[in-house]
Amino acid sequence: MHNCEIICVGTELLLGDILNTNVRFLSKELAAMGIAVLHQSVIGDNSERLANEVRTALSRSDIVITSGGLGPTPDDLTKEICCEVMGFELTVDKKVLNNIESYFRSKGISMAASNKKQAYIPAGGTVFRNDNGTAPGAAMEKDGKCLILLPGPPRELEPMFIEQAKPFLKKYSSGSIISHTVRTMGIGESALAEMVGDLLGNKNPTVAPYAKDGEVLLRITAAAVDEKSAHELCKPMIEQIRARLSSYVYGIDTDSIEQRVVELLSEKGKKIALAESCTGGYIAKRITDIPGSSSVFDCGIVSYANQTKVDILGVSPDTLEISGAVSKQTAAEMAQGARRAGNADIGIGVTGIAGPGNDSSNKPAGLIYIALADKDKTFVDKLITGRSFDREYNRYVASSYALNMARLYLEGFLGG
Ligand code: ATP
Ligand code: MG
Repeated sequence: MHNCEIICVGTELLLGDILNTNVRFLSKELAAMGIAVLHQSVIGDNSERLANEVRTALSRSDIVITSGGLGPTPDDLTKEICCEVMGFELTVDKKVLNNIESYFRSKGISMAASNKKQAYIPAGGTVFRNDNGTAPGAAMEKDGKCLILLPGPPRELEPMFIEQAKPFLKKYSSGSIISHTVRTMGIGESALAEMVGDLLGNKNPTVAPYAKDGEVLLRITAAAVDEKSAHELCKPMIEQIRARLSSYVYGIDTDSIEQRVVELLSEKGKKIALAESCTGGYIAKRITDIPGSSSVFDCGIVSYANQTKVDILGVSPDTLEISGAVSKQTAAEMAQGARRAGNADIGIGVTGIAGPGNDSSNKPAGLIYIALADKDKTFVDKLITGRSFDREYNRYVASSYALNMARLYLEGFLGG
């Protein structure tokens, strides 16, 4: 197996001004090609440090990929440094120069003299044209080593890698590593690990759990001669996990719980309406993030004040007086009220204490009631997050819990 390392160039990465999404993208792609990424580094726009880094990388890795620093400005020095280290001359490429000129012409802007710098390419190397910008990429091979230069902007780097660098690297690739993610909700990491404990030691595919706010993911990873065989190895493992975890599983490789809820609502031709108190519209935001939600989402009412709960949702003043705003009964009446107000099939009501710290009612922050009402029944759940000082967490997890309740209802798991 060939090994590889990635060097991302840019002072803005070191300063934390931008997130290094290129390294993530490249690492994933390379793993899927069966090229092992053994080192990743970030270096500022400094010629000496960059030259040292490239030298070190080439001394220990078969393939070195750089991102960034191919632009026209004086701080863009990756190409010059890499050519020097690899011993390649830079020459003007007429075709590349033409491409850059026509790129500017198509945008109706005149080309700065500094842009000509980008038409210099390593003589004897391979050029990767840039369909989304001006700086071309390049590959240089010498003494069994391969050095690939890619531009920094992700919208330039990603298509250039997929369309040109990936086919170029095919000869270094051996087999494929593929991952799938089983996403679960409603069960903690340790309880889940117990249910699949015997699978966690499996060699190929491997199974590894990891927890995210309010959910637990299981990553299944297989290595095989090609992508298809790696998928085949994962398949029976995923099925076995799905059978064991049953209703806890909300999706395989799904983006999010809201994605799943919108899918289910569309499939079943049902509409949802919301009454949100402590989540302040978070659930509505997450549902409407999904394209196509307009056909399944009716309305979200942010009923923060008690009077609004009464006037708009029809929550009884007695309920608020006797049980309090944060109570099982209020959540139920909010869900029913939302359903009525939106003329929807399903209503969801959420009321709780987001924190930080407890409120005047002596109820703890992180206590949240979530209700779901259809035309016949109302279900209410109580959630205690245990994080009284984390307002953002409490609101996010409450919204996830509500979305999961809708998912369980639509899949027929709620109320037996
Ligand atoms: P340009 O022609 O735009 O100058 P370049 O190849 O010189 O391209 P850089 O100057 O290093 O690239 O970076 C340009 C922009 O691309 C950065 O400001 C940043 O927005 C984005 N970028 C650079 N490196 C990364 C990275 N590793 N991950 C995500 N985005 C990045
Ligand atoms: Mg630049």
